[in-house]
Amino acid sequence: MLSEKLCKAFNAQINAELWSAYLYLSMSMDAAARGQKGIANWFKVQFQEEQAHAEIMMNHVLSRGNKVELAPIAEVNTTWENALEAFKDTLAHEKKVTALINNLYEIALEEKDYPAQNMLKWFIDEQVEEEESAQEIIDQLEAVEGNKYGLLMIDKDLATRTYTVPSPLNKGE
Ligand code: MG
Repeated sequence: MLSEKLCKAFNAQINAELWSAYLYLSMSMDAAARGQKGIANWFKVQFQEEQAHAEIMMNHVLSRGNKVELAPIAEVNTTWENALEAFKDTLAHEKKVTALINNLYEIALEEKDYPAQNMLKWFIDEQVEEEESAQEIIDQLEAVEGNKYGLLMIDKDLATRTYTVPSPLNKGE
């Protein structure tokens, strides 16, 4: 079983992952309203990934014999000035999530919970990718700033992103 302290921290992180999902769904809807279908797709996939993150954590809490307690999802922003602003917010948000995951890992260390440490390593690696991909898109958007054709090319590129089930959810029972 997870200690009470660690279980509480996991439940808080499940809420944070679901809030992230809601944030990216909102960004997707905002991009769609701007007519940027590819960017809307990228954020929709991001929304699905965040739901998967919450699910991985819920599965862990359950398999340890603890209870998942879902808390209300806080309000999210609904409008961004442009795609660049949305991706800058994405990067800033992912940096906060990285700090939360690191903190959760530290609690797992303090509590000497080895299974929790092991599963959190996947999230630590995942955060490196999350920050990297947001930064890459920011760099591209900054490179074409003000150029409608460039923006169209980025939008077309981001339309190709597809959702793949993260490996921790793929391990068959
Ligand atoms: Mg996440």
